[in-house]
Amino acid sequence: MISACAVIVAGGKGERMNSDIRKQYLLLGNLPILSHTLLAFDSCPLVNRIYLVVPEIDFEFCRNHILAPIHLTSEIELVSGGKERQDSVYNGLKAITDKNDIVVIHDGVRPFVTPKLIEDCINGAAKDGGCILGVPAVDTLKNVGKDGYILNTMQRRDAWLAQTPQAFQYSLIKEAHDHAMAEGLRGTDDASLVEYLEKSVRMIPGSPYNIKITNQEDMVIARAIFIIIKGQEWT
Ligand code: C5P
Repeated sequence: MISACAVIVAGGKGERMNSDIRKQYLLLGNLPILSHTLLAFDSCPLVNRIYLVVPEIDFEFCRNHILAPIHLTSEIELVSGGKERQDSVYNGLKAITDKNDIVVIHDGVRPFVTPKLIEDCINGAAKDGGCILGVPAVDTLKNVGKDGYILNTMQRRDAWLAQTPQAFQYSLIKEAHDHAMAEGLRGTDDASLVEYLEKSVRMIPGSPYNIKITNQEDMVIARAIFIIIKGQEWT
C-alpha cells in the first residue's frame, strides 16, 4: 500500500478576511474550518502523518482549540509558518522525517476536501510523480493590464483552475522547492515549482465544492455548502 504524509498549510495571517480571528480558525458549524480539513485527512487511509503548518504564536491555540476537540488518529506535528505560502510549504517539507513515498500538500482553508479526493490525488502521484486537483474554467479568462484594459483572452478550452490537494513523490517536490528557493522563483501553488523543473504534473478533476475560503464572500458560500453537503452523509 502507498504511504503518504500530508503537509497542511494554515500559516497565513488571513488579512483579506477583515476579521479579528484568522480565517482558518473561523467556525463552520461547531468546529473551526481547519478542524474540518484535518478530519478529512485523518479519514483518508493512505495518510499516516500530518504536518500542520501554522504561525508559531498559534501553536498553543491550535493544540487547545483546533486539535483537542477532534481526537485525530493520525500523528500530528506542528510546524512554524513562513512569510508566504511557498515558505510555509517549504518549512513543512523540511520537517518531514519519516520515509513516506508521497507528500500531499493542502490549504488548511479548503475544508470541503474529501477522503476520496485526497486518495485520488495520492494515487495519481504514485503513478505519475505529481498530481493535482482542479476544475475546468467555465468563465472566459482575460489577461488584464495594470491600466485596467484587456491585453488578451486565454484559450478557455485548455484552462483549469488549480486546487489543492497537490501530491508528489517526496524527492520531486523537495527538489522543486529547493530549486525555487535557490533561484528566487515564486509560485502560488506547488505544481508550478515542479513545472519550473520542466517535469510533468497530472491534473485530475477536483470538486467545485472544494473552495478556498479567502474572503467574507467565500464564508457565505462555505456556510451554504456546509449545510447542503456536510449536513448529509459526506464521503
Ligand atoms: O494566501 P493563500 O490564499 O494562497 O493561502 C492558501 C493557504 O496557504 C491558506 O491555508 C493559508 O493559511 C496558507 N498560507 C500559509 N503561510 C502563509 C500564507 C498562506 O501557510 N504565509
